[in-house]
Amino acid sequence: MINYTEHLSLLMEDVVRRTPSLACIHLEDLLVFGRFGRADADGAFATCHCLTLPTSEPGYFYWRDRTTGELTRQSEWFITKSPRVTIGPRRIKYLISFVMPRFCNQSLRHSRKALFYPGAPDWVGKLDTIVHELYHIDPEQAGLRRVKCADGSESERAHGPHFYQDVARIVTAYLASRPDPSLLGFLADDFNALTARYGGVVATTFRNFPSFPQRYMERLEMPATEPLVRIERLKPASQPELYTEDDLHIREFTEQSTRRLTRKGQHRAA
Ligand SMILES: [Zn+2]
Repeated sequence: MINYTEHLSLLMEDVVRRTPSLACIHLEDLLVFGRFGRADADGAFATCHCLTLPTSEPGYFYWRDRTTGELTRQSEWFITKSPRVTIGPRRIKYLISFVMPRFCNQSLRHSRKALFYPGAPDWVGKLDTIVHELYHIDPEQAGLRRVKCADGSESERAHGPHFYQDVARIVTAYLASRPDPSLLGFLADDFNALTARYGGVVATTFRNFPSFPQRYMERLEMPATEPLVRIERLKPASQPELYTEDDLHIREFTEQSTRRLTRKGQHRAA
């Protein structure tokens, strides 16, 4: 079977090595994993998730009476935090997820980015997505790349006018640097072709699949903002605070579903 996330990681390593403007990315701080998403459904192909965003200020939800405007209820106080993900001694700063099989069936034709790659083969659309997600990593490693507006102020949007062009320039320069074709070969196959060629497609996932490390709320012991207001309890967090290498599973993906693979000789904790 082909380990798709491993192939993606090896390709990313080569892209970063050959691309001066991505030299700020430390791949040992990054983990690639798979999420499930059908090829015939709409949605993202991949996402860059940042794990280093600071813990939020304390906050709460509240409800007001529509006519009097009076505070009627409030939730318990909470802060929003990122979970820690560690692999051995390393703390992971970024996750990049690929939605499978959707990503594997992505094609350049009929996509908006086709105009950046005249005459290029279809699989270049997948390489564009890979570079796009890497390009979201902030050069100062302080979160996700901030986008500057024409007047120099920072945009609220994740993709400024030059984002797609910058990505296309990196992809074109990478391909012109004559990378080893064996690193790119897996992109030429769609999901069915991969399954036929390798007998199956597997990817790294997290133990709590289909969930994965995400921001979560932590309850704080703090008094209500007004003495008589009713307090709504928060749902207990279902998100682990810490993920380690023991929380990584290999799953096999099919067109419709996934299943966990257990290695021969591997014991499952009772
Ligand atoms: Zn993006």
